[in-house]
Amino acid sequence: MIFRRISHRLALQFTGFVFLLLLGTGAIFLAADYNRSQQMARARLEQLAEQLMRLGSLPGDPRLLAPRFRERIRICRTDGTVQYAGSMFPDVPFNPERFSTARQFGDDYVILTLPGRLPDGSSGHLQVAEIERHTMHDLPRRLFVFAIVSASISALTYGVGLFFANRSLRPARDMVAKLEQFTQDASHELRTPLTSLQSTLELAERTKEYAPAIASARQDVLEITQLIDRLLELARLDAAHLRRERTDVTPLTRRVVERLEPTASAAGVRLETALTQEVQQSVDAALFTHVVQNLVSNAIKYTPAGGLVRVALSATELTVTDTGIGIAPEHIGNIFERFYQVDPSRSADGVGLGLALVKNICDLHGWRIGVQSQVGQGTTFVVTFA
Ligand code: ADP
Repeated sequence: MIFRRISHRLALQFTGFVFLLLLGTGAIFLAADYNRSQQMARARLEQLAEQLMRLGSLPGDPRLLAPRFRERIRICRTDGTVQYAGSMFPDVPFNPERFSTARQFGDDYVILTLPGRLPDGSSGHLQVAEIERHTMHDLPRRLFVFAIVSASISALTYGVGLFFANRSLRPARDMVAKLEQFTQDASHELRTPLTSLQSTLELAERTKEYAPAIASARQDVLEITQLIDRLLELARLDAAHLRRERTDVTPLTRRVVERLEPTASAAGVRLETALTQEVQQSVDAALFTHVVQNLVSNAIKYTPAGGLVRVALSATELTVTDTGIGIAPEHIGNIFERFYQVDPSRSADGVGLGLALVKNICDLHGWRIGVQSQVGQGTTFVVTFA
């Protein structure tokens, strides 16, 4: 949710930036166009004035000129007295500056004023006017086109921005999801060693025998630290960060079974192993241990007293079989899901994360994990090494 909001915000900011850029460029082009059309109008006026004034003499009788010239000129004396005024100069005050502007009949005029000699030899001025058809004239049309183009570009920018924002945020989103997973996994997996630590300390307090308690507590703390480290790594990392090494997994498996021996005998379950041969596999040892630990402790947990749990390793497979309560077919497809429990009342010390973790680790290694079960008969988990 938060990431979707960030994506939208980024896309909006990006769109805003592009829109401002468009606005800026549009304004620059408009100004440049306006400037250019003004310069061209002035150049046209100068050209016309040159044609009308031969050798510095003002036209003798403007009425003889062609109408398109006639209406656009005015001839004045130096004191501003009008000698002749075309129809474009009905009421324009005299301004001796070379270029001036005036407004008549709702139009803007540019007026060029040039000094010259009148036919009687005295000095005077020729003024030529031109309606300024500058770009402001079709401003509404331009603004309309600009609005349509900007809206389309902005919509496109928003879409593209959203796409890229989503794509760029994906790693962060994955990271947060994994860290959330870590928090849940840590709270689940740490419960057992912390309980063990607590009972060790309580026992030491009661019996006043501190030396063995300290040794055991140190071992628990070490395990907790390692577990947190590995879980953190698992949460943060992907397959590229696995610490895989070619390892003989048989001793690793044997060690886990030995550690679970007291739990099994307390539950009245017999633990049997077939761990004879050396099995070299490219594994992350800590994670592999975790897989065995979870599968075997589940097998013990879900096998009633008098039952049997068998752990076997071949060159290609790890098999954990039990003669326990089994899993009904309608649940089999779900047991690897996070927090899924067939019957929560039967697994008081679990929250349904163990098998999800096992599956995660198998996926990271590229292993397949399968399960076969019959209610009341028992369950077999098989991890097939790739
Ligand atoms: P939990 O912490 O509840 O044991 P897991 O993820 O380890 O969670 O297991 C998910 C569910 O799968 C368990 O609640 C249990 O119902 C079922 N399950 C796992 N292993 C076995 C097994 N060996 N025999 C019977 N049921 C099992």
